[in-house]
Parts: sequence; C-alpha cells; structure tokens
Amino acid sequence: MQAHSLCYSGSANMTSTPTVTAARGSTRKPLPRSTSLPPPAMPIYTALQAADPDVYNALMGEMQRQREGVELIASENYISCAVLETMGTVFNNKYSEGYPSKRYYGGQQFTDIVESLAIERAKKLFKAGHANVQPHAGAPANIATYFALMEPGDTIMGMDLSHGGHLTHGHPVTYITKIFKFVRYKMKDVETGEIDYDEMREIARREKPKVLMGGFSAYPRELNYAKMQAIAKEVGAVSIMDMAHIAGLIAGGALRNPFDDGFDLCLTTTHKTLRGPRGGMILTREEELGKKIDKQVFPGFQGGPIMQMVAAKAVAFGEAMKPEFKVYAHQIIKNAKHMAQYFMDHGVKLITNGTDNHMMLIDCITSWNMSGKEVEHLFDSIGITLNKNMIADDPRKPMDPSGVRLGTPAITTRGMKEPEMEKLAGFMLKAIEIRADETALRKLHEEVKEFCLRYPVPGIDK
Ligand code: PLP
Repeated sequence: MQAHSLCYSGSANMTSTPTVTAARGSTRKPLPRSTSLPPPAMPIYTALQAADPDVYNALMGEMQRQREGVELIASENYISCAVLETMGTVFNNKYSEGYPSKRYYGGQQFTDIVESLAIERAKKLFKAGHANVQPHAGAPANIATYFALMEPGDTIMGMDLSHGGHLTHGHPVTYITKIFKFVRYKMKDVETGEIDYDEMREIARREKPKVLMGGFSAYPRELNYAKMQAIAKEVGAVSIMDMAHIAGLIAGGALRNPFDDGFDLCLTTTHKTLRGPRGGMILTREEELGKKIDKQVFPGFQGGPIMQMVAAKAVAFGEAMKPEFKVYAHQIIKNAKHMAQYFMDHGVKLITNGTDNHMMLIDCITSWNMSGKEVEHLFDSIGITLNKNMIADDPRKPMDPSGVRLGTPAITTRGMKEPEMEKLAGFMLKAIEIRADETALRKLHEEVKEFCLRYPVPGIDK
C-alpha cells in the first residue's frame, strides 16, 4: 500500500460496510466479503458518518466495490485525490453566472481565478482558440452547441447510432430530434471499421447539413479527420468532433487532435479518458465561434456554473499537462491492443477485429452464443464490470443486445500493464468456460478480488 496523502486517515475498519451483493437481476446469492483482504486506507468522512449513516454506508460499499472489482466500463475512470478533494470544496457555495470578469453577482475574486485557469489550461492542452468549461456534462455541451450552430429544422450529419454514435447524436428517444434533422453515415466494412467516406460525401452533398459531426461512444477505430474536414468544407458545414471518449488520449498525444486537421469545434466530457470531474467542455478553433458558444451555454441553456467542478476541471487539466499523463494515455492504448489481441487469439470475435483506441466491442453471440446481457451479468458475478452494447446493425434489442463494450482507462490508472491484460482476459474466458458452476465462479471471484487489491485505487488507497 502506498503512502497516504493528507485527505486520508490510514487504515480504518470496514465494520459498517454492507456486504457486497451479486449483480442486479442475477439469481445468485449475495457474495460474502473475503476475510483475508488487507484493510483499505480510508478517506476521512467522519462528518458524513455522523450526519447520515445510510449515505455513509452506501459510500463505504461503493468504495469497497471499486477497490475489490475490475472496472472495464470504457467511459469510467478513477480521478486523483487532488481532483476528488477539489470537488468537495466550498466553491460549491458560490453562484457565478456569467464568465470571468463578466459576472452577474459579486464576490468572484476566487471563482474567476479557477475558471480562468481551467480555460487557459484547456486551450493549451488541446491547441484551441477558445474554451467554455461550464457545461454541466457532455449532453448539455452537445445540445448548447447544436443551438449555437443551427436553427430549428436544420440538418446535422453524424455517425449511425448502431455503428457507434452516441444518444445525443440524434437517437429518436431524445428531444433534440424533434428540433433538428439528423442524417447518418456508417462504416463501409464492419470487419475493418473503416468509415464509408464516399457515402459520407454523397449524403453531405445531397442533404447539405449545417454541421458535420464526428464522435462516438462505441467505435474502436480512429476517424480520418482530414477527409471529414474536406467534406465539411465542400458543403459549407461546420465540422465538430465529439471527443468525449478519447479526449484524454488526444490530450496525451496518443491519438490525433481534430484541430490539427482543421476542425472547427471539439466537444468533450471531462470524466472519461481525460480523468477529471464529471462535466463537459466546448472548444473552438476560432475566438469568434467561441463567443457564440458562450452565449448559448449561458444564458441560452444553463444557469450558474457548478464552480467546484470547474475548479476540479482546472486541477485535472493541470494533471493532463504533465509528462506522466502522456505515458498514461499511450499505455491505455497499448493495454487495449494487447487485450484485444489476447481475446482474438482465444477465438473471441471483436467488432472491427481489434482496436485503435481504449475500447473493444465483443460480439458475444458469435464468440460464446451468449447475449451481451448474459455476459454482463456473468462477469458482474466475479467482480468484473463492463456493459452490454449493441453491435453494428444489431438484430437484437438495446436491453439484451449481441455485444459487450469494455475499455482500459480505469485499469490503466490502477497501474496495470500488458501482463495484467492477459490475466484479466483470462479471468473472463475462465468465467465463460465455468459459467454453469456456481462454486467455481465463487472461487474465481475470490481470485479476482485478491488480484485487484494489489493495484491501489486513487481516492481510496492513495
Ligand atoms: N458524447 C459522447 C460521445 C459520449 O460518449 C457521452 C457519454 O457517454 C456523452 C456525449 C454524454 O455525456 P454525459 O453523460 O456527461 O452527459
């Protein structure tokens, strides 16, 4: 166990921690806590414990789950102790409607400092001309951007949702589809994952979108930004990249920066590979477009910024500027490629047959004749968390699709490298093999726990 930072009390007893229960919807019995585990170093939550034991106990359970389990959800990560501390500060108490030095209320000496720091660091990190760090999350960042760039009834072109695009890119269940018209492009070949750029050009010429959008939440390959930018230019569209999933990989220099290929605007969450607090951000190449965005975020769409999150964004961006973050970003991809290869060597079918980023999509029906939901539940029962996911042109329903999605950002933060990728993939393949044997699965879960406890979780163990 590593030395504790100031916000930690050292070993604490976990006697009030509730027993960890088996996967939601699973018929398995609750899993007993192992008695042989070393105690965690616990942050001090004495005020919470005294004021609200119910929330405190839930928090203790969640901390135990995070440290004893493997986090493979591609959009999740473990933030540093410094970011975690900043999120729980008195910046929460301040209303700061407006922007640095242009606020609607007084008392902004210190909020101006942290918001300006977040803005300047974000601009430097992504080579942007302008940054708005106030969006409360990724979805509001996207919606504010659509309103800044389009009028109701206008057309936006994005990635087909079953080929990897995100809900906010025009899923019929979202409100924005009542306001804007969404048209789609797809992969040309799901075996390689290559986008059909000829079709993209054809559709763009026909539909004349105001916005051409890149970005995805379930696509393991890189986009060709230069080709997209040429198409956007030809039809007079604004080019935007929703880099929510890969922002940390871009910041760390492990993937291309869309601004280098002429993109006009980048959207992102701050809590995935970028390893910051939950939140969103909008970056533009030109200051002029940035001014339009600012007006649309506030007062157009949101109220006051969540200032403790803005401050935590500044801290996270500061961390992402350090050389260690470059190493981290490259290791995420090395780990994903290594795990992908290991799976494929063991007969597992991956969508696009590999990965260029942090995520993998497994075709569970072809690989194991199991649905994504069954695989998610099985892995949950041994302490490995990932999510069921649609695969390209999936004939099954979203709640019980053909695939699962997994990613390496969180396990890489925990210090795992290529040998650990083989070990983890080995646990998953073993679970598939012994899936009908409850006793063997319980034993495997204990092995997973023992393995996990060797890798400290920031915010819990260090
Ligand atoms: N855009 C993409 C590509 C995403 O993957 C996500 C979240 O998964 C979002 C936007 C929305 O982010 P949030 O959940 O913070 O609203």
